[in-house]
Amino acid sequence: MTAPPGVVRHPKYYFENGSYIFLVENTLYKLQHTILTTESVVFAQLFEIGSIGPPKTEGKSDENPILLERYTVQSFDLLIEFKYSCPRQAADYSSEDLKRFLELICMLQCSNAIRDYITTCILQRPFIFHPSELIYFGTEYDIPPLLACGFTRLCEIPLIKIKKRHCLLMTSEVFAAYIQVKTRLDKHRRMVAGEPPEMQHSNDCQDLVACSEDWRAVWWNGMGRLLLDARNPHSYDDALERFKSLRFGRVTEACKLYMFDNVIDTDLPAYHSCIFVTRIKNDLVQKLFPHTE
Ligand SMILES: [Zn+2]
Repeated sequence: MTAPPGVVRHPKYYFENGSYIFLVENTLYKLQHTILTTESVVFAQLFEIGSIGPPKTEGKSDENPILLERYTVQSFDLLIEFKYSCPRQAADYSSEDLKRFLELICMLQCSNAIRDYITTCILQRPFIFHPSELIYFGTEYDIPPLLACGFTRLCEIPLIKIKKRHCLLMTSEVFAAYIQVKTRLDKHRRMVAGEPPEMQHSNDCQDLVACSEDWRAVWWNGMGRLLLDARNPHSYDDALERFKSLRFGRVTEACKLYMFDNVIDTDLPAYHSCIFVTRIKNDLVQKLFPHTE
């Protein structure tokens, strides 16, 4: 018997010794059905029901395949490849592959093992997605680590760069948490920019007043300007790096080094910001995934 017009056998996944023939879009797969029933609740139910399951003739010929109407060849190939071959390296999946793969295994209610595998692939290269997409994967497919990763990265993005399409991928709770973090960090940023750390002089500083005055002036013109730049606000780390390379006027080299080594680098505002983001992120994960430890 031949396949209906326009329908073709899959070049790789039509195994003559397969037990059932499936049709996805216009492509026929002939597979051992147990490879699917052991992986997916949806397939397990399809074959376990007996009286309601596929009729005896369905899936036994190219003319009468089992129709899998909700899926695409591109996504179904990812699952079949995973089951029949060695898994790819994470870097060999494109962002579109990973999106399709996640969506498919969710529809088919696949095992946690395969979901964990895809999660690991995404977490190895989270930067190929916008943080809002990671958040969407986390909430839509019930994967807390993806929400956590997405939220941490989202908090690094200025509010002005968040578009409507990003908001639509997040729940209102996630967006509210993001606003809470940004508000707090912005306030913190203004405080850091406007309040130079108290000058502590080295033992050989000859002019404490002039040294302190210039320290404050350079801080204002350096850290203050970089942190509060309306068009391109710098991260704390980036601003500090640039600040260190400025000319410090009457601040002695020894005082400058003392300040960096003993005051700024030991009381990092960036560190405190990081702790705050982590706390909000953990609260969010707890709230959205109460079953998570
Ligand atoms: Zn000094």
